[in-house]
Amino acid sequence: MTSYPHMLAPLDLGFTTLKNRVLMGSMHTGLEETKDWNRVAEFYAARARGGVALMVTGGMAPNAEGGVFPGAAGLFSADDIANHRIVTDRVHDAGGKIAMQVLHAGRYAYSPDCVAPSAIKAPIAPFRPKELDVSGIEKQIGDIVTAVQRAQQAGYDGAEIMGSEGYFINQFLVTHTNHRTDEWGGTYANRMRLAVEVVKRARAAVGPNFILIYRISMIDLVPNGSTWDEVVQLAKAIEGAGATILNTGIGWHEARVPTIATSVPRRAFSWVTKKMMGEVTIPIITSNRINMPDVAESVLAEGCADMVSMARPFLADPDFVAKAATDRTAHIAPCIACNQACLDHTFSGKLSTCLVNPRASYETELVVKKSEVSKKIAVVGAGPAGLSAALTAAERGHEVTLFDQADEIGGQLNMAKKVPGKEEFWGLVSYYKTMVSASGITLALGQKADVQALADFDGIIIATGVTPRDPAIHGQTLPHVLSYIDVLRRNASVGERVAIIGAGGIGFDVAEFLVTGESPTENLDDWLAEWGVGDPSETRGGLRPEGPQPEPPTRAVTLLQRKAQKLGKGLGKTTGWIHRAALQMKDVKMIGGVNYERIDSSGLHISYGEDRSNPTVISADTIVLCAGQIPERSLADELLAAGRECHVIGGADVAAELDAKRAINQGTRLAARI
Ligand code: NAP
Ligand code: SF4
Repeated sequence: MTSYPHMLAPLDLGFTTLKNRVLMGSMHTGLEETKDWNRVAEFYAARARGGVALMVTGGMAPNAEGGVFPGAAGLFSADDIANHRIVTDRVHDAGGKIAMQVLHAGRYAYSPDCVAPSAIKAPIAPFRPKELDVSGIEKQIGDIVTAVQRAQQAGYDGAEIMGSEGYFINQFLVTHTNHRTDEWGGTYANRMRLAVEVVKRARAAVGPNFILIYRISMIDLVPNGSTWDEVVQLAKAIEGAGATILNTGIGWHEARVPTIATSVPRRAFSWVTKKMMGEVTIPIITSNRINMPDVAESVLAEGCADMVSMARPFLADPDFVAKAATDRTAHIAPCIACNQACLDHTFSGKLSTCLVNPRASYETELVVKKSEVSKKIAVVGAGPAGLSAALTAAERGHEVTLFDQADEIGGQLNMAKKVPGKEEFWGLVSYYKTMVSASGITLALGQKADVQALADFDGIIIATGVTPRDPAIHGQTLPHVLSYIDVLRRNASVGERVAIIGAGGIGFDVAEFLVTGESPTENLDDWLAEWGVGDPSETRGGLRPEGPQPEPPTRAVTLLQRKAQKLGKGLGKTTGWIHRAALQMKDVKMIGGVNYERIDSSGLHISYGEDRSNPTVISADTIVLCAGQIPERSLADELLAAGRECHVIGGADVAAELDAKRAINQGTRLAARI
């Protein structure tokens, strides 16, 4: 008997059956733009082999003006169809099903040629769109329908029409972006005409036996968004127009509410989809922050939806479904919703991959093969770099011993997991524990490895991490000065008024830790109140009229840096704004451009600028040093001095800009080749 009877139950669509209730949601990986179709095919085939019922590709542009950026992938020619055929054939050979998403970006397109219902610039895009005339609207509908038809010709099992997240079709639905007075604007019947026409004409073009998914914006989270009655009216019309499945979209990209970041509670929006159940007869999919089988199972068992969509979890582990189905849930590499290697990459023009799985999108390049010779490998340091190196080396058949002077594995992950909003790190550490014990690695914890202890190994990998940088501030040895390690790891007592020196990732984390009582990520009602999310039946677009209502801060915190720029500039591209907004809601004072003059019993003395003007005291009971880190490579140096070779990875190699993404990637790649 499976633990996930609802998740693993087949879904009969009439003309075809999905083998379980799991959809891999659309992700723009950037792979299609590489034009390496073998690589694209292998990415999807790996996930098909891993048991997911249906996958949706990244958004394909229906025409040049609808592309997310100039040159965005689409299906424009016979050549494109032949290339996509490589993907669909490979997926079908692997026993999977795949639908192509058609995405018209409208005013979100990064192009001066972008088009929209009205000429209103999006706050997150640089270009004012051109207002379409009636023939222009007809052209867009025609192009979207043609793209759906081409998807069918390319062998896809279906198409998803992107109607949510604030893209083109969504832009017609609400007065926030549609100020038209003709038959495509004004009344709701007029505003939803485009969505309904697209589905109706697409169905007529592809016939009855082709999956048509419509992604509907269930809750817009923008001012003047749809009312719930309008969303239901649209859903019914979309069903009437011939859609096979309704998928959920949550929030426009310009919404100032986080919808998928790690601080969003798991399944935070399944209650919104549940409101739609019973309003239509076609299956409904829910999504957002569903990342493990038990979460998916509970969403389905509680009747919130007929299927679940997970996207990033399939970057983290292509075998998610197969592992859940064979009682190996603890072996699933968990998506921690960090966005660091997926969405942050997408928005920086890089290929998406995954922090916990550097093989994602690199399936054809980063291959982990059995080694011809089994070597004795020592890995020193059981943080992210050492763990990934040890696990990959063990997978290749090497005999691995993993040393750490701490009595637990995880390194700095054990600090991250203490930060409110970063609870997913608990799951990551626990995944590593499972995998280390399943892989036959010999664990040597609580032991400081030295040159002698490493004498008998064929290969040595040093992943000893970092030590805090000494900021050399007069008075820093006073008892009310702590390091971030004292705060996050040693539970040191911290006063009511705190000054934090250094505003990198760790300074922000420490601030969040010090101002937050109960983590709202662990309590959905608190989290919804904190970000001002309401029931869309009561409040248009799901935004509470009173706005965000955070809990008061538990301490008065001042966060400081020497650089004159905005604090948090170096944080994640798609998540930095969330960290900044969360601290602003807790009245954290953020001060840049300072010199640290000295610390004494009254607090932290600072001045400003090169001329050290405006001397000021930040009154504080506790001062926390978060001034960055330097490599801890004393063991590596000792080995080299003794004439031993070793590989140095992670923070021990380069501490600047160190994060788990680089550490895991470096550890995996090294172990794949030694
Ligand atoms: P960091 O990001 O390099 O930040 C170090 C901070 O210390 C900066 O604000 C820097 O600002 C300050 N600083 C540097 N030298 C100093 C000195 N001599 N005296 C006083 N202040 C000094 O390092 P981190 O905060 O330790 O984080 C380490 C890494 O962990 C980061 O690179 C990040 O990738 C990762 N991390 C990420 C997150 C995340 O949210 N994604 C969270 C935690 C950690 P000034 O030089 O302007 O003073
Ligand atoms: Fe999930 Fe982070 Fe991997 Fe993206 S990079 S898939 S958010 S774990």
